[in-house]
Amino acid sequence: MSFVSLDKPLGDYVDIVLARAIDETIRRQRIASGGAVTALLTFMLERGYVDGVVVAKRVHGLQAELVIAKSRREILEAAGNKWSVLPYTTRLREALHDESLKSIALVGLPCQAQFLWQMKTYPLLETDFVSKIYFIVSLFCLGTFATEAFIDLLKLKYGLKPEKISAVSLEKNYIKISYNKSEKRIPLAELLPYIQTGCLTCSDYAGVFSDISAGLSENYPGYTVLILRCEKAVKLVNEAKANGYIEVEKANLDVIEEIETKARGKIVRATRYMSLLL
Ligand code: SF4
Repeated sequence: MSFVSLDKPLGDYVDIVLARAIDETIRRQRIASGGAVTALLTFMLERGYVDGVVVAKRVHGLQAELVIAKSRREILEAAGNKWSVLPYTTRLREALHDESLKSIALVGLPCQAQFLWQMKTYPLLETDFVSKIYFIVSLFCLGTFATEAFIDLLKLKYGLKPEKISAVSLEKNYIKISYNKSEKRIPLAELLPYIQTGCLTCSDYAGVFSDISAGLSENYPGYTVLILRCEKAVKLVNEAKANGYIEVEKANLDVIEEIETKARGKIVRATRYMSLLL
């Protein structure tokens, strides 16, 4: 397992593929991303590899909470982007202490994947802290917003009521906000001051401490980019494909270059902000 560097901005991996769900219900709901993560989680659950999935679910406007999904319906209800970092440990502890859960998958951000990896590698508190964790999926991340300040900006400058926001997604240099059956685009440059301070010194875009990293490519809407980091991930994707859960194709060089460029940009940003702190 390695950290990121400008030479290797995505860390170590075995393969990078484009994938999308075959199930129409998942595809309809995850139209922009292809729904491959949702399909893979569903496959793991229905195949019996895991009996629960710890995942963030939007509950109200921009608010989200961590839930333990134990069925296809619960996984589908949680699908979609969230824009805040949620405290992981409470739900994780709950999942680990739940006798009915023998094996779990987790979906999180790169910093959360790193936390889990550290707990696994250097257990500080409970020796069996992560023994139930079967699989970690990390979502690409450029940063999350300081929620209160971001909500104030949306309210005061754009007149948006947070409770009426149905989705937030990243598009090239804009954040697209789906609001009350319309869309609002806000330039990323304007949002930089609202990114959490800790995110500005974070250098991991893809989540190197995961089994699979997942995110979007601007050139391939409707597909999920999957970075397969270990043989278990390759096996899982092949099995999900063979069982009709996902379609998979090799990622072209332009996809890899695109995500490497974003990952390098994050490393450069982190280095710049780190130097300001020193
Ligand atoms: S930028 Fe880094 S620290 Fe911030 S939410 Fe993303 S992974 Fe976590």
